[in-house]
Amino acid sequence: MKKIVIVGGGLGGLASAVTLAHAGFDVELFEKNSHLGGKLMPVELGNYRFDFGPNTITMPAVFNQVISQTGEKPQDHLNFIPLQSHTRNHFPDGSLFDFTSDQNQMIQQLKTFDPSAADKYQAFIKEISRLYRYSERYFFPVTFQSWRDYLSPSLGFALLKVRPAESMHHFFQRYFTNPLLVQAFDRYATYIGSSPYKAPATFSMIAYLELVEGVYYTKGGNTGIANAFAAVARKCGAQLHTNTEVKRIVTNGGKAQGIELADGTRIRADLVILNGDLLSAFPSLVAESERPSLNDAKVAAFEPSISAFVITVGLSERLDVLKHHNVFFSTDYRQEFHDLFDASIYSNEPTVYISNSSYTDPSISPDGDNLFILVNAPALTKEGDLQIEPEVYKERIYDFLLSYGVDIRSHLAEEKIFTPAFIRDKFGSFRGALYGPSSNRPKDAFLRPPNASRDIRNLFFVGGSTHPGGGSPMVVLSGLNVANNIIAKFKKTPPSQ
Ligand SMILES: Cc1cc2nc3c(=O)[nH]c(=O)nc-3n(C[C@H](O)[C@H](O)[C@H](O)COP(=O)(O)OP(=O)(O)OC[C@H]3O[C@@H](n4cnc5c(N)ncnc54)[C@H](O)[C@@H]3O)c2cc1C
Repeated sequence: MKKIVIVGGGLGGLASAVTLAHAGFDVELFEKNSHLGGKLMPVELGNYRFDFGPNTITMPAVFNQVISQTGEKPQDHLNFIPLQSHTRNHFPDGSLFDFTSDQNQMIQQLKTFDPSAADKYQAFIKEISRLYRYSERYFFPVTFQSWRDYLSPSLGFALLKVRPAESMHHFFQRYFTNPLLVQAFDRYATYIGSSPYKAPATFSMIAYLELVEGVYYTKGGNTGIANAFAAVARKCGAQLHTNTEVKRIVTNGGKAQGIELADGTRIRADLVILNGDLLSAFPSLVAESERPSLNDAKVAAFEPSISAFVITVGLSERLDVLKHHNVFFSTDYRQEFHDLFDASIYSNEPTVYISNSSYTDPSISPDGDNLFILVNAPALTKEGDLQIEPEVYKERIYDFLLSYGVDIRSHLAEEKIFTPAFIRDKFGSFRGALYGPSSNRPKDAFLRPPNASRDIRNLFFVGGSTHPGGGSPMVVLSGLNVANNIIAKFKKTPPSQ
């Protein structure tokens, strides 16, 4: 059976490892960090546990599918808890709006918050459901491996149907008149690292995931997803190595033939899957002369998606004001996105997101709230500058939260800051971006980098910097799609379901 080496143990790489090992391939995965899961990383500060990275989990069926395809029962590995009223939006005028997958509850709130929108809510749900169905059918399952995939008539047809020329902001304004509510919906653009004023309305389907299918939390912490994938992959026979950095993808005659580790060890392989960030890992592992379609100039020309400034905070008590997911909005969202995307600077008054998973699962931090505080940040400059003094910026965030009645300083027990430079160094992300290239221009949104190298045969790409895009369910889909393509191409009989 063919030997497959996977470089990187993020969710995309792990999903491929499970699928291919179950199909009988000889799979070996190498991850430079001590944990598996990549950006989905466990953080422990004293008695407080946190999920770094994915705190908002949608599409649990995608994660379950990775496990169930092997014949294992997902519920033996993962317990997804639905959070019906999942996100409390706080606005500068003191008003609140809870996002929930209970449509009646949404309409009841709209009746006072935005009466005309209450009448349009069902039409809104219908339209975002339609956008989602198109994406699910035409975009999610494709692995862009050749120009033919881009030129397929069904893809062209689908593109015309998903409002590619309209911005998300414009789309939401058609259904909601209260600018505060439009602001809350606009925030969904940040889930793909983009601006609502630029990203195509197609991505309004993210609202479908949260407001129709719902938001979930993995009991015991979302890092349980990576642990479950790793356990099932090993059970299927994959070898997973941590603390092992790959230094080079070995090629011969334009064909991938294996990898070389940092200590010089060579591992032969028939196929190589790269799960590291395409824009940074590929150039560092393959000589420029061997990758004309993604040479250094082309890499440098990519606009990165946004990054994040994160503080994990353990509090000595539980604050009544906080739910599981909380958003504290700035007064001028347009200015915030201008700062992030046009000026590429930190916003003076940023919108702040807080995940407090101990609201749902107190066992994760028995002594008080475990806050994952996230502010959208520009990617690092081309020169690698952070642009801010982290301690100073942190104090600004705490001041802003205090203006909303969230007093961090008085209850602080544990604290750790993570900057875009950490995200670059720890996970190898291009300029610290969360989702690889930005999806601001329609071209970048729909034509994400392909899942196979144009220059090197038998080299495949999975993860957030490739198709179908960033976010934990999408990267898992990329891992599944690439693995299933390999199975179809290199193995005659598909594995038993
Ligand atoms: C702060 C933050 C918040 C987020 N919030 C959410 C959220 O709420 N919901 C959501 O769905 N998603 C969220 N995401 C996005 C989500 O985490 C990512 O899209 C997803 O986890 C990326 O998976 P991936 O497969 O692309 O691999 P990554 O997680 O990028 O992992 C790639 C791995 O490859 C390894 N690697 C790279 N090069 C080498 C090498 N040469 N040798 C060995 N190993 C190598 C890296 O160490 C890394 O572990 C968030 C991300 C961040 C950072």
